[in-house]
Amino acid sequence: MYICMELFRWWSKDTIAIVTGANKGIGFELVRRLAGLGLTVILTARDRERGHRAVEILKGEGLDVHFFCLDVSDPSSIKAFVSSFKEKFGVLDILVNNAAVSFNGIGENRVVHAETVIKTNFYGPKMLTESLLPIFRCSSSIARILNMSSRLGTFDKVKNPSVREILQDEENLTEERIDNFVKIFLENVDRGDWESRGWPEIWTDYAMSKVALNAYSRILAKRYEGKGLSVNCFCPGYVQTSMTRGTGTRTPVQAARVGASLALLPPKEIPTGKFFMGCSPTVKSRL
Ligand code: NDP
Repeated sequence: MYICMELFRWWSKDTIAIVTGANKGIGFELVRRLAGLGLTVILTARDRERGHRAVEILKGEGLDVHFFCLDVSDPSSIKAFVSSFKEKFGVLDILVNNAAVSFNGIGENRVVHAETVIKTNFYGPKMLTESLLPIFRCSSSIARILNMSSRLGTFDKVKNPSVREILQDEENLTEERIDNFVKIFLENVDRGDWESRGWPEIWTDYAMSKVALNAYSRILAKRYEGKGLSVNCFCPGYVQTSMTRGTGTRTPVQAARVGASLALLPPKEIPTGKFFMGCSPTVKSRL
């Protein structure tokens, strides 16, 4: 993969990438990989100390990595980050929305933290993306947004008929419609009848956050079609990180190698509005 990527190298040290939630797990390895391939990478983390520690490790390896504090669930943190980032770098080529939470262990399905999960995994990346859109360098190199998603949140996991209808009606899918079904989901959680409403059955709140992220990505991809910005989602499979309590079939390094390859696909080959799944950058379907 490395040799192949070097052959198609379109990026340089001037290419700027942001990775959210990158103090550990897949995000950390994504930063290591992208910086190792010669990009200028911004590692963000919600906790300053954890972020600095991660950056120090990578700087110790000779990598060009910059740190910014960013809590994606906090609009004021997003605002402060975007403002400092703009001041220092001014432009952006690649955004990897990686930060996310889940509060369930394998086989558990509690929804007590549903609001935090939705706020962190859906509204956070959405708000960050919207705030950064004006500074993307949309050119022939194609700027890129890669949203770390999950197969738990593909549309077929939703059985609720009216939500399925919304998701399948591509022409009329809007941000308002997404907000609406997310609101209904959270109301069902509050009322305690969420289990009988046709929401995804595994890690329900997390899955719903990714359903919404996938749907939003589809809208964004359409909005920027032919305008020099590609928007795709990627499910890395079952990876050994804190989120899976160390279980999983592949390592964060393996997941990050595929993620980085996707983020760096050659300008002529990079698609938009796709959902990539698993261990090969060639596996994809429509979002
Ligand atoms: P980890 O739990 O290892 O890492 C998650 C990262 O997100 C941490 O750095 C965490 O920071 C950060 N984070 C959490 N909340 C916030 C917040 N509010 N603001 C900023 N950063 C935050 O998870 P993974 O590496 O496994 O997950 C990375 C991505 O991959 C996620 O989007 C996840 O949904 C996706 N994914 C993972 C799979 C897996 O099997 N592991 C499978 C499918 C998708 P802190 O250390 O402070 O908590």
